[in-house]
Amino acid sequence: MPKVLLFANPIAGRGSAMGLGRSLADRLTGEGYRCELLHDRPDTIDPMTLCEREVRCIVVIGGDGTLRAVAGRMVDHCPREDWPPLLVVPMGTANLMGQHLGIRWDPRHAAEQVAAAIRRRRIVSLDAARANGRLFLLMAGVGVDAQIVHEVDRRRRGPIRKSSYLWPAARVVGGYDFPSITVHADGRRIFGPRPGVAFVGNISEYGTGFPMLPRARPDDGLLDVCALPCGSRLQMMKLFLHAAAGEHAQQEGSACVKARLVQIESDRPVAVQVDGEPAGFTPVRLEMMERKLDFVVE
Ligand SMILES: [Mg+2]
Repeated sequence: MPKVLLFANPIAGRGSAMGLGRSLADRLTGEGYRCELLHDRPDTIDPMTLCEREVRCIVVIGGDGTLRAVAGRMVDHCPREDWPPLLVVPMGTANLMGQHLGIRWDPRHAAEQVAAAIRRRRIVSLDAARANGRLFLLMAGVGVDAQIVHEVDRRRRGPIRKSSYLWPAARVVGGYDFPSITVHADGRRIFGPRPGVAFVGNISEYGTGFPMLPRARPDDGLLDVCALPCGSRLQMMKLFLHAAAGEHAQQEGSACVKARLVQIESDRPVAVQVDGEPAGFTPVRLEMMERKLDFVVE
């Protein structure tokens, strides 16, 4: 009997992810699937459960962080030929992957629609990469944006809202001291050492609402990297405005290329964020994976 694994983040949507997980499991069981609803921390999921041959789909109900944790557990523990497709039910603070896949489940009919999508099984295959060994799906940043992500995480006491970023952003921008970074793309130095910020990613969407990597394609087998000079608060503000206008890649000193391997280093540790979560400090090595990840879409 085909099996569907459902992973619901218990705090997403103030607990409604769990409710949706239950009604979806009921519906799929009625349609002849074996269902297992999980709500433990993704890094504790038993790999035996995740890698079962009969798993037809892994449903992830939550935000980008939950998706990355569940998919990361799968790619770290299951043989490549056994990676089932993932189905995203966006219900977090950041839902860039859901946005990117164009997923818009109607809250009143979500269980019905998701069950139909699993039956139909329309698949989109997207590139995935690793950042210092850990799965990386969307985008990564090195510098001031990553420092803000670290600060938000340090202060968090429960679910994050968009407004959770305002005070940490002001604080980080006010105290930032513009460390130098050096960026290599496929072994070639493209930027630095000089004060700057770097963005690396697979999709053009970004948490700011405007694209930092406008030419990024999720299925070209390459990462997009943009390194931008940023040596003062005035330059940072200009960079932000240029990025909002989509002109940052053309500014003097900017280096934007595509590569399979991106390495970023610095004299002293600079904050790194991956998929909107803190991911330690430089040096960071971001490398495309051989195998794509499959997603079930609407
Ligand atoms: Mg790409």
